[in-house]
Amino acid sequence: MNSTLPEFLLESNIDIVPSALLSDYTTFRLGGQCQALLKCQTPEELITIVKLLIQHHKKFILIGGGSNLVVSDQGLECYVIRYLSDSPIIERNNTTLMVSGSTILDDLVIYAAENGLQGINYCSGIPGTVGGAVAGNAGAFGQQVGDIVKSVTLIDKAGQIKTVTPDQLGFAYRHSHLKETSDIVVSVQLSMSSGSIDELQKERQDILAIRKEKHPDLKQYPCAGSFFRNIEPTSKAGKRQAAGWFLEEAGGKALQEGGAKIFPKHANIIIKSENCTAEDVLNLSKKMQDIVKNKFDLDLVREVRFVGPFKNKSTDEHNTVIW
Ligand SMILES: Cc1cc2nc3c(=O)[nH]c(=O)nc-3n(C[C@H](O)[C@H](O)[C@H](O)COP(=O)(O)OP(=O)(O)OC[C@H]3O[C@@H](n4cnc5c(N)ncnc54)[C@H](O)[C@@H]3O)c2cc1C
Repeated sequence: MNSTLPEFLLESNIDIVPSALLSDYTTFRLGGQCQALLKCQTPEELITIVKLLIQHHKKFILIGGGSNLVVSDQGLECYVIRYLSDSPIIERNNTTLMVSGSTILDDLVIYAAENGLQGINYCSGIPGTVGGAVAGNAGAFGQQVGDIVKSVTLIDKAGQIKTVTPDQLGFAYRHSHLKETSDIVVSVQLSMSSGSIDELQKERQDILAIRKEKHPDLKQYPCAGSFFRNIEPTSKAGKRQAAGWFLEEAGGKALQEGGAKIFPKHANIIIKSENCTAEDVLNLSKKMQDIVKNKFDLDLVREVRFVGPFKNKSTDEHNTVIW
């Protein structure tokens, strides 16, 4: 990967990692090099870099916490903006919060609980950034981030900044239009309600305990969380049902492909073991789809996004778009 940086990037005050290994920036710990990783923490830095890249006709993608991605072993022939801030960027006006897309989601949850603000506690322990959570309408326990979004400030492919309301974002189960447009969440306004600090803190601890029990410890088992979306209510499953249940019933826990394995406690989570490649993960995910198709005639739809070139991948709507 050619790591020569153009003058306009060298002159910017952005923290740049030339030829960054994307495995260092994804929770799956997979992915080859990119041209350079551009670390943006604030909305101002993000807007400056996006405009510069567009102006100089440079291809790029944007990631947050890298917790919902499988990046190609071959890496990416483009720049990668990483929009993630070390400390939360949050402004409060009564029960409305203005939060940067770079704020770590769990930092927002902690802030809300400490300030007696209800509406986001169910996201306790979900990795990634607020921007990533809005784009994918992240959630848990039947609640999702889109439910509390009041407005979102975006930067689009033309470098235009616009503020949109939730009805323009098509929030649905683990979905928003941002997955198709690739517009970037610069910041978001959230409508919270008042709650008891003690109750919120207690609920948060309970949720973290449940997650610790059910979800892999990322240090021990690198992964990207649930691999497939739960089955939609309109399908043969009758009402939305856990993809993990169908996988388990179809014998999914025994599957393996190279270094890609199934988390023993949850049939819908692929984990990386020694010598695992991104290609292994893709191949294992196809096997998982096949067994559920054969046993239940159901098509599992990926929640996790593949990025970059893969030998065995057909293009689909769930791939992260390179601008
Ligand atoms: C152990 C584990 C548990 C998990 N549990 C849950 C769970 O309970 N519920 C749940 O919903 N998810 C869960 N996830 C998945 C993941 O954490 C969420 O999808 C998260 O919201 C992704 O955010 P991110 O910043 O890491 O996005 P990334 O993985 O960096 O990116 C994912 C997609 O979002 C886009 N994106 C990122 N930031 C922005 C932005 N600012 N503007 C526009 N688009 C953006 C990227 O371009 C990419 O297409 C889990 C993952 C792990 C590893």
